Amino acid sequence: MSSSPAALGKAPRSASDTAGPSAAVMGTYARQDIVFVRGEGCWLTTDTGERYLDFGSGVAVNALGHAHPKLVAALQAQAEKLWHTSNLYRIEGQETVAEKLTRLTFAERVFFCNSGAEACEGAIKVARRYHYVSGRPERQRIIAFRGAFHGRTLATLAAAGNEKYLEGFGPTAGGFDHVDLGDIEAVEAAIGPETAAIMLEPIQGEGGVRSASQDFLKAVRALCDTHGLLLVLDEVQTGMGRTGKFFAHEWVGITPDVMAIAKGFGGGFPVGAVLATAEAAKGMTPGTHGSTFGGNPLGMAVASTVIDIISEPGFLETVRTRTLHLKQGLEGLKDQHAAVIEEVRGAGLLMGLKLRSRVTPAQVVKAAIAEKLLLVGAGDNSVRVLPPLIVSEEDITQGLHALSQALTRVSHEII
Ligand SMILES: *Cc1c(COP(=O)(O)O)cnc(C)c1O
Repeated sequence: MSSSPAALGKAPRSASDTAGPSAAVMGTYARQDIVFVRGEGCWLTTDTGERYLDFGSGVAVNALGHAHPKLVAALQAQAEKLWHTSNLYRIEGQETVAEKLTRLTFAERVFFCNSGAEACEGAIKVARRYHYVSGRPERQRIIAFRGAFHGRTLATLAAAGNEKYLEGFGPTAGGFDHVDLGDIEAVEAAIGPETAAIMLEPIQGEGGVRSASQDFLKAVRALCDTHGLLLVLDEVQTGMGRTGKFFAHEWVGITPDVMAIAKGFGGGFPVGAVLATAEAAKGMTPGTHGSTFGGNPLGMAVASTVIDIISEPGFLETVRTRTLHLKQGLEGLKDQHAAVIEEVRGAGLLMGLKLRSRVTPAQVVKAAIAEKLLLVGAGDNSVRVLPPLIVSEEDITQGLHALSQALTRVSHEII
């Protein structure tokens, strides 16, 4: 029996049927035509042996770079023992990681999942359930911010409210009110008898590295306290040392009631978590939430090691030193390439370049690739510069040089 695509009535695999991206992968991404086959530290190697300096960290995921020996060892050791049992049973790794997180943060309870979107969904559920079990079931609405990104599930898309991502996917999940980042009067005006929580990223990553000011975050915390609302922070991108503190809210001196984490948490292994105070999590009783793979032993072995490394004495101090170098370098590039860069933004190793309106993020990303440097585009006409936290001084120097060359290329294009 023939099972050729034609016999099965299928479209050909690709237009040309020559080497190139396979049409068998659903076309949801506008990918660069590069295949990486190895990584070490801040460097990636392609299938043709070319080396790229990774200043994108897989979008803030590879916090400890590629193939960190301790993460490799942790994963291998766990892989030989046990991969999966299920949340029907106690999982040692979850208890270890939850104890570490509660020691190091505001949190007293941790729920494990597999991604940032799942962590944000979980955080939303925790917030609504808290009011429900507190005898205020009408408190279901969540105030969120324009330009936010909380993931691609139906509820997290509704939370961010970005029309572009919601288009064509049916009814938008309800219960979210949107205001502008930084507009505290608008936040206060949006609070009503049905408000359950205020949810935000301390720095909007996908939205273009737009920081909420410390004063704004403090005022939001105060509004939550005054009105009995929960403060939900999405630190999926800003957490795990990315800004030079374990979590970005530590710069402000406030704590949330609920927090979503993922990305750097697994250093490349898919794992996320919802962190909460005992009070905020009081509604999360047996049967209220779950995840088959959440807190899987493999993910926990890696996440535990990531936490250990980031919390080693001196680790975050070094990140802050690297930050100064990177930031100064980027400011210098802004002066040199004022026709391309409008503003340098961000904190720690989550930096952004807001581009002039005649330049696109795709143009800069492409020019950087030509210089063997990886950057990540973002909203608000910007690109992100987010090297692994283990980046060396030499790699920053080299990355800034490559970026300078890339910006020169872009300047020539726009003249
Ligand atoms: C990436 C991101 C998410 C979504 O994470 P996924 O793992 O892609 O689901 C949510 N919130 C923020 C702030 C993010 O940066």
